Amino acid sequence: MADLDAFKEEVRAFIAEHLPEELRVGNRTDLPGEPLGKWINAMADRGWVTPDWPTEYGGGGLDRKHTAALRAELKAVRAPTVTSFGVSMLGPTLLEYGTEEQKKQHLIPISKHTVRWCQGFSEPGSGSDLASLQCRAVREGDEYVITGQKIWTTGAHRADWIFCLVRTDTEAPKHEGISFILFPMNQPGVEVAPLTLIDGTAHFSQVFFDGARASADQVVGPLNGGWTVAKRLLQHERSTDGSSDGGIGGASKETLAQFVQREVGMENGVLADHGIRERLAAWEIDKKALGLTMRRAAEEARAGQKGRDIGSLGKFRWANMVKTEQDIAMEASGTQGLGWDGPGFEAAELERTKKWLITRADSIWGGTNEIQLNVIAKRVLGLPE
Ligand SMILES: Cc1cc2nc3c(=O)[nH]c(=O)nc-3n(C[C@H](O)[C@H](O)[C@H](O)COP(=O)(O)OP(=O)(O)OC[C@H]3O[C@@H](n4cnc5c(N)ncnc54)[C@H](O)[C@@H]3O)c2cc1C
Repeated sequence: MADLDAFKEEVRAFIAEHLPEELRVGNRTDLPGEPLGKWINAMADRGWVTPDWPTEYGGGGLDRKHTAALRAELKAVRAPTVTSFGVSMLGPTLLEYGTEEQKKQHLIPISKHTVRWCQGFSEPGSGSDLASLQCRAVREGDEYVITGQKIWTTGAHRADWIFCLVRTDTEAPKHEGISFILFPMNQPGVEVAPLTLIDGTAHFSQVFFDGARASADQVVGPLNGGWTVAKRLLQHERSTDGSSDGGIGGASKETLAQFVQREVGMENGVLADHGIRERLAAWEIDKKALGLTMRRAAEEARAGQKGRDIGSLGKFRWANMVKTEQDIAMEASGTQGLGWDGPGFEAAELERTKKWLITRADSIWGGTNEIQLNVIAKRVLGLPE
């Protein structure tokens, strides 16, 4: 493997060649499609969408140090990255629990970003108490026949495949009758009904299964052992490095500090508004502290010193931080802070309002803040229930 300094040079040259200036704004929803597609394809060709996966599964085959160096270089220029369900959640879970056939079938399309996945976990009545889920799968020959409902399924309307929790044993205690199964979305027996949000967009859906079919060899992990696989996937979902470099929304493409500085102005070299100055400073310190804590946690997890549930700590703190980030931006904007119509509300204000709204959901997805605190108390601190 290339010497680390030489590798960093290689990454910088790659960035200079493939990443246009307009994309150097972090992961935003309003990035121009064509240049973004080209950038992701260039990354995928190098295996850098999934840098630490083995090369035979479309990864970059990089070790921990080279992966960290690559990510640091990308972050330094605020390069957009792929954070899909396949890359961040299913892929690492399949690497651990998948059969060789499942890995060969699914990992390369994920690393090339050609197959889109969605997550069928939550049901009406089974969110925080996920193990109470009722969606059934019954064996019929070489297949499972699936009947039931999922809800809040992000990206279901454009997903090619779903990873789904289904009940395969109705007699067993609730955690022991669940299986983790994969099947295509485009088939009879799958109906997707998008849920429209307050801002008019529909990111997630209700999904109804009425006789949908999954091949029996698409069960990941042991039959009825899906709860263990699901918990591992949730640990990946909750992992965060504590960064928040996506900007504050709107046409400005600014970081929070730049935005606040422009909105409230400077006096004698410091922010003119004392209250906002203090909140911004506290937020920046929190951000730094979270980044360092999560790096330490990742090192400890690798060294086998602590459990993998430390990610819940990161998710909890991160969810609060992104909300505070938007709150500060809103406060700095004064009367133009929150709203979407009327005089003075242009595209930039609308974008910011949408971003403020969507960050309210960050303390819900992947397990609510209260559930993360329960996990931290039980599995990180070892407190009695
Ligand atoms: C933006 C977004 C995207 C999502 N995407 C997906 C997806 O792609 N796939 C998917 O399967 N799901 C998805 N979800 C659903 C998400 O996982 C659930 O909303 C979440 O787990 C909470 O479940 P619930 O909505 O049923 O709330 P409930 O479980 O009904 O909780 C209601 C309230 O009670 C509290 N509560 C519940 N139990 C406890 C407890 N034991 N101790 C303390 N407090 C408790 C909760 O914290 C919450 O405040 C998404 C949600 C959001 C917001």
